[in-house]
Amino acid sequence: MSQPITVTNSYDVIIIGAGHNGLVCAAYLLKAGYSVLLLEKRPVPGGAATTEEAIPEAPGFKFNLCAIDHEFIFHTPVIEELELGKYGLEYLHCDPHTFCPHLDGKYFLAHKSVEKTHAAIAQYSIKDADRYVEFIDYWSKLMSAVTPFFNAPPQSVLDIAGNYSKQNLMDVFKVAGSKNKLLDFIRNMITSPEDLINEYFDTEIVKAPLARLAAEIGAPPSQKGITAGLMMLAMRHYPGMARPQGGTGALTQALVKLVTSLGGKILTEQMVKEVLIDNNKAVGVRVNNNQEYRATKGIISNIDVQRLFLQLVPEKAVDYKLRNRVERRIVNNNETILKIDCALSELPNFKAYDQDNVDHLIGTILIADSVAHVEQAHSLANMGQIPDSNPSMYLDIPSVLDPTLAPEGKHTLWIEFFAPYQIASKEGTGLNGTGWTEDLKNSVADNVLNKLNEYAPNLKDSIIARRVESPAELGERLGSYKGNYYHLDMTLDQMIFLRPLPEIANYTTPIKNLYLTGAGTHPGGSISGMPGRNCAQIFLKKQKSFFGI
Ligand SMILES: Cc1cc2nc3c(=O)[nH]c(=O)nc-3n(C[C@H](O)[C@H](O)[C@H](O)COP(=O)(O)OP(=O)(O)OC[C@H]3O[C@@H](n4cnc5c(N)ncnc54)[C@H](O)[C@@H]3O)c2cc1C
Repeated sequence: MSQPITVTNSYDVIIIGAGHNGLVCAAYLLKAGYSVLLLEKRPVPGGAATTEEAIPEAPGFKFNLCAIDHEFIFHTPVIEELELGKYGLEYLHCDPHTFCPHLDGKYFLAHKSVEKTHAAIAQYSIKDADRYVEFIDYWSKLMSAVTPFFNAPPQSVLDIAGNYSKQNLMDVFKVAGSKNKLLDFIRNMITSPEDLINEYFDTEIVKAPLARLAAEIGAPPSQKGITAGLMMLAMRHYPGMARPQGGTGALTQALVKLVTSLGGKILTEQMVKEVLIDNNKAVGVRVNNNQEYRATKGIISNIDVQRLFLQLVPEKAVDYKLRNRVERRIVNNNETILKIDCALSELPNFKAYDQDNVDHLIGTILIADSVAHVEQAHSLANMGQIPDSNPSMYLDIPSVLDPTLAPEGKHTLWIEFFAPYQIASKEGTGLNGTGWTEDLKNSVADNVLNKLNEYAPNLKDSIIARRVESPAELGERLGSYKGNYYHLDMTLDQMIFLRPLPEIANYTTPIKNLYLTGAGTHPGGSISGMPGRNCAQIFLKKQKSFFGI
């Protein structure tokens, strides 16, 4: 028997999903005096930004179930504007930030200081060390030249212009200040990370970690149009990489405290099932238990437009051409993450780093032997194959920098392994027809840990307990299509004025009062809060404009 419909109080704004972008957006709207309700499907807010005691057999170990390393958020004014320090947010900086050990005893160790990193690379190749300094200088300037775009709605030309400081303008001049520099800049953006890496460097010591970090954008390093991923390493030097004390969830907790202290309401275990539309205007939502909530000024979606338009908005409310474009033109490749979290009794002993300190374990550890190794990790996943015969991986041991994450003397291990969402030839089997089963995910995790054990031979014996989440399970937890951790792919054809599609790239939709935010909007996924802040700007402008346009 269906449950009766209950209609509750009305708010100015309802936000679907309490990911960090939904929370950031809510905070700006509350500060401007609007009443806001956030509806979150999970039992806890935060989306892909939570820290949880997720292994029952390992009490006291706190795991970052998704995001861990923060870089983009330091390119925004979000932390200062929202005064998140007052709500308990404190960042711990990673220096060194990137360690990539090899089985032959060599290793790449990048410090925050480019000069120190130059010295570390120079022991293998002076030429590559020199080129590294040039490379980081170019990509840091490029980042500075484009950041003003990230911190404004893509069609708000005046806001973008207003974001340019003298330094930003000088950096624009340095990367694109002549006809040839501009053309080179364009070429750099449309070529592949692999081509650029090969242009600069000779040794795999430098090439492999660069390729691995660039491909974090979610595609093989040979793919054209994803060179923005090369900023990842540059950002770790300027302004640096850090993690909230207490884990990524501490960012969410600070936002929750702020939002609730401003009178915002967050309801968990509220899965929005339908957006209510009246005369082409969004007026409310209906959740899983048939409860309805009403909003007079806006419904803001922290989930991407594919989920919004294809699952929550009634079919007849969206023009069929736009619905078709949302369904067919937006690209989500088949690559996502198999996540492994372990409670450890002791730190891994990496054979390649024979020194009496744990500096190399502070930041990210990359298992990436060569560019070809990274290429295989991503291209096989895209083709539906599991690249676990020779796994490449990204790992962190967050408890080295932040001992509050584990019982005294113990540690937490975070492993990200790229894997297909849909396994080729296993369609219709396993969880949600993806082919993923308990046995399969555990055997893949065994292969990943066996590989890691070759680099750090005490690892396997130090595992107290582990949690393995298959791509299908990750997709269910986040609710995202194909478990896409950026909601939609981050290729150049889906960025800035084109994210998610040109006609809905400014956080608004053709349905009045229905707005978009989150990783599926400009400037995209990762921990930044930028989509939340930009969407709030658009919402607030619309309230002030006479005709609401
Ligand atoms: C394994 C993994 C590792 C990552 N590592 C990093 C990293 O180290 N650094 C980094 O910067 N980024 C990382 N990312 C990416 C980053 O975490 C995300 O891009 C970012 O958190 C997205 O934030 P968001 O608020 O836009 O969306 P989300 O966090 O996805 O929030 C959307 C929210 O909506 C909720 N929801 C979904 N459907 C409904 C519904 N129907 N009704 C109500 N609520 C709903 C979800 O539960 C979720 O809380 C990682 C992602 C993953 C998955």
